[in-house]
Amino acid sequence: MKILVVNAGSSSIKFTLFETKGEVLLAKGLIERINTPSTVMHFSTHKGQKFDQDISANSYEAAISQACLALMDKNTGVIGNLSEIEAIGHRVVHGGAAMTAASKLTKAVKQVILDCFALAPLHNPPNYEGIEACESLFPNVPMVAVFDTAFHQTMPPASYTYAIPLDVAQKNQIRRYGFHGTSHNYVAIKAASVLKRRMEDLKLITVHLGNGCSITAINHGRVEDTSMGMTPLEGLVMGTRCGDIDPAVIFVLRRLGYTLDDVDKMLNKASGLLGLAGIGSNDMRDLIKAVDEGNPRAKLALDVFVLRIVKYIGAYAAELNGFDALIFTAGIGENVPRIRSQVCEKLEFLGVKLDAARNKAREMIISCDDTSPVVMVVPTNEELMIARETECVLSSQS
Ligand code: AMP
Repeated sequence: MKILVVNAGSSSIKFTLFETKGEVLLAKGLIERINTPSTVMHFSTHKGQKFDQDISANSYEAAISQACLALMDKNTGVIGNLSEIEAIGHRVVHGGAAMTAASKLTKAVKQVILDCFALAPLHNPPNYEGIEACESLFPNVPMVAVFDTAFHQTMPPASYTYAIPLDVAQKNQIRRYGFHGTSHNYVAIKAASVLKRRMEDLKLITVHLGNGCSITAINHGRVEDTSMGMTPLEGLVMGTRCGDIDPAVIFVLRRLGYTLDDVDKMLNKASGLLGLAGIGSNDMRDLIKAVDEGNPRAKLALDVFVLRIVKYIGAYAAELNGFDALIFTAGIGENVPRIRSQVCEKLEFLGVKLDAARNKAREMIISCDDTSPVVMVVPTNEELMIARETECVLSSQS
């Protein structure tokens, strides 16, 4: 079955075409700066063809039409015509408390996505626009929404409840939802398969360290707790987001004259590694270079980043009453052995013992033989997970 996966962001669209038999990625692309004079498409196929092209796309529909042309192009394309696309899976960031799993897109599901605009104002509106564009271009193709929040809906109330007055919280849907669920779910499934264990028999801690960072405790296949909260601002230190801070810092900043809008921008866009290191970059590669050059602020940023991860792992080890595997994923988690070793060094009291050579070589299992918990590096693949879920939802309904 050929499935197109669409991830529509605020000014860009990522698309990936899979053949689900054998899980072959046929082609993928990114269209950036939609609705500007400098819209560009980056496209590549499994046969090794690749191009970057300036295009004109003043709407999501126009952008997806251009993606379709690339997919069908007689030189670089991978399909003869659009009718070969049998289903479309959409990444949707927020499904609120209502969406506990991926769902076929119906009027009711679309309404839930609309209802969650206030909960994810930067993400759900473009996700929705991507869905409507595809509905217009592919009127007869079944579509599925795969929610970042859905995997976390198995969390127990004690994990998702904030200790503010319960009536205020319940009336206003103020609670932990968690994000990156598709990634945490994917790497957990992959880890279980590599370990040749059933998910129902495992206690896992998955650490997604990318530009956004989050960590999840998975107890026999169910989420026990996760670090991102009502919004993706809570939890670990991230590229530009602060993660956990005392909420009263916001009152202090207000009294100092910052507007709420200023504070919102500061905590989401100017904090984290960017704000701490002050090197004008939130890219981990730049940060590590600055640390190696002896920049003390960069070192502090890295230390704060690592310590927060260690704190969460300690907390989740307690919540899970021990764990079988610790799994690193995403840009930093997959590519920076030094962060993994700095984190694991502090976890030796839990039995964690890294094999330095394996860690450097980025093997899938990087802990020493016969030690527990096992430490792993599992590359994430959210697009493939969305394709799998799309196929699963549609086949269960046919
Ligand atoms: P993601 O959001 O998963 O794409 O991850 C982005 C983060 O991963 C950025 O901080 C990058 O600097 C970091 N990253 C990606 N590749 C590497 C690498 N090879 N070495 C160090 N950091 C990397």
